[in-house]
Amino acid sequence: MARPLPTLAELRIESGTPVLVRVDFNVPLQAGEVADDTRIRAALPTIEHLRERGAKVVLCSHLGRPKGKHVAAYSLEPVAAKLAEIMDAEIIFAHDTVGDEVASLLDEVQPGGVMVIENLRFHKGEKSNEPDFSQQLARLGRAYVNDAFGAMHRAHASVVGAAEQSEQIAAGLLVEAEVKALDKLLHGPERPFIAILGGAKVSDKIGVIESLARRCDGILVGGAMAYTFLAAQGRPVGSSLVETEKILLAKRLLERCSERGVTIYLPVDHVVAAGPDADQVETVKEIPDGKAGFDIGPETVSRWADVIGRAGTVFWNGPVGMFEVEAFSSGTMAIAAAVADCDGYTVVGGGDSAAAVKRSGMSEKFDHISTGGGASLQFVEGKELPGLRTLRLWST
Ligand code: ADP
Ligand code: MG
Repeated sequence: MARPLPTLAELRIESGTPVLVRVDFNVPLQAGEVADDTRIRAALPTIEHLRERGAKVVLCSHLGRPKGKHVAAYSLEPVAAKLAEIMDAEIIFAHDTVGDEVASLLDEVQPGGVMVIENLRFHKGEKSNEPDFSQQLARLGRAYVNDAFGAMHRAHASVVGAAEQSEQIAAGLLVEAEVKALDKLLHGPERPFIAILGGAKVSDKIGVIESLARRCDGILVGGAMAYTFLAAQGRPVGSSLVETEKILLAKRLLERCSERGVTIYLPVDHVVAAGPDADQVETVKEIPDGKAGFDIGPETVSRWADVIGRAGTVFWNGPVGMFEVEAFSSGTMAIAAAVADCDGYTVVGGGDSAAAVKRSGMSEKFDHISTGGGASLQFVEGKELPGLRTLRLWST
């Protein structure tokens, strides 16, 4: 078993102790405003815990990919504004990430107060885990907390270096909850253990498919990914998205699964169209030339709902169709309903998948909706995430 994570309760904090908290505020922005505040809300329990203990809470995060430069469109200022609105509290925003001005602004923060510092990725040292940048970050607090589950798979300064250079460190409450929930998929999951995999590309998910193929009883493969698998079986796929260079790999995976007695379920009918914007949409069993599959059909939904209904554990990553387009959303919405109805332990991971579940209005019926995309996939794959490793090494 992995070593335990150091907890918030173990931190020595007095009134006015500055605590640097790595959060995942990498939220979608639209016209300069936060379009989805799920990740901000997910950080609230840790923020409130620290405020109640009188800490000065210094929040740091990345947002988008500004590539080591100050890019106004990726400023965390609108995120800080959203946080202030949600918490109904004053939030101090620092226009830089580290440096003297940030430090003197921190002096003005009251015990129990909150400061958000500017996007970590405005500095090149963040991604390169540069020791000097890590130290400057670490110096902002007398304790370091990592509550950024979605960033745990990145060996960046705010995730690894700053933690290593801090006097005391802990996992935040969100990270604790994520690890506890996802651990159940790795250690003795209730059987049958069924995975639902979808999304656009096989290449994004190879590691997790291979790993799940070793641990699951059945895998339902939907989304665009399914067409590469169907092509591997020599089935007609029309003009659906197929990763030609992954067909062999798909073939091998299908063979290995059948040897191990792991059932791979591929769609048996499809919602097809000439393109995503085409007016004519139809349901077919065999995809004709010139048409592409954009969703699983009703027969597939009914078979899969049956498999899901009998599962002891369900892990879902990747929408089974192009759910952003109304005409191709029924499959994903029906799968969300089937997972919601399942009495087993149900977990969803992945940004688009979580958004789909939210849209279905059935979020509360899932046991866990991970806030991590890549991080939750790598976790479920059984990989040791650099951020968690750093936290665990501390607890010896
Ligand atoms: P997640 O973020 O949950 O990990 P992915 O990013 O892997 O999921 O995949 C989501 C994307 O896959 C969505 O944008 C969706 O439109 C796309 N997708 C799913 N099925 C299809 C399909 N049949 N054809 C084209 N795109 C698809
Ligand atoms: Mg995605």
